[in-house]
Amino acid sequence: KIKKDKMTILVLGLNNSGKSTIINHFKKSNDQNAIMVPTVGFMIEQFYSMGVNIKAIDMSGATRYRNLWEHQFKNCQGIIYVIDSSDRMRFVVIKDELDLVLQHPDLSRSVPILFYGNKSDLEDSLSSVKIAAALSLENIKEKPWHICSSNAISGEGLGEGVQWLVQQIR
Ligand code: GDP
Repeated sequence: KIKKDKMTILVLGLNNSGKSTIINHFKKSNDQNAIMVPTVGFMIEQFYSMGVNIKAIDMSGATRYRNLWEHQFKNCQGIIYVIDSSDRMRFVVIKDELDLVLQHPDLSRSVPILFYGNKSDLEDSLSSVKIAAALSLENIKEKPWHICSSNAISGEGLGEGVQWLVQQIR
């Protein structure tokens, strides 16, 4: 059994998808408990709150630096994969990055993945159903996954997603 105080959740996604905004939202909602930890390298931002270690990693353009953060997969109990649902131009990149994560040997087979179709407030954003189709999420067989649309600025959808993730980890 996983001890809750040893829990690490990775927040992954391309740059500009909304990772920092999402993390800031969680920080605000647990203000007294949040402890900022100095940034490790330049593409990882992390904080510790209510027994959960949350680390955000920028995946874009970081191919050279992959080895700096890939070892994080070893002790991770949950993944939040943030997608800018209006960033249609980069869906191919998002899919490629996701496939690399899914196939990574250090990632536990059954680690749950929560997808945020973020920026759902934007007019040209894709629905969760369309994002799931574009990324072929139905092909993920071993890992439990869930997608919900979110607006990281208003906080809409963030709680619903995290609730699902925490239930999977318990
Ligand atoms: P990161 O690079 O993944 O950490 O992305 P940021 O959190 O820095 O967000 C990138 C930009 O998108 C910022 O200008 C945010 O204010 C904006 N942003 C983040 N989430 C949303 C959202 O849900 N809706 C809208 N309209 N903008 C968002």
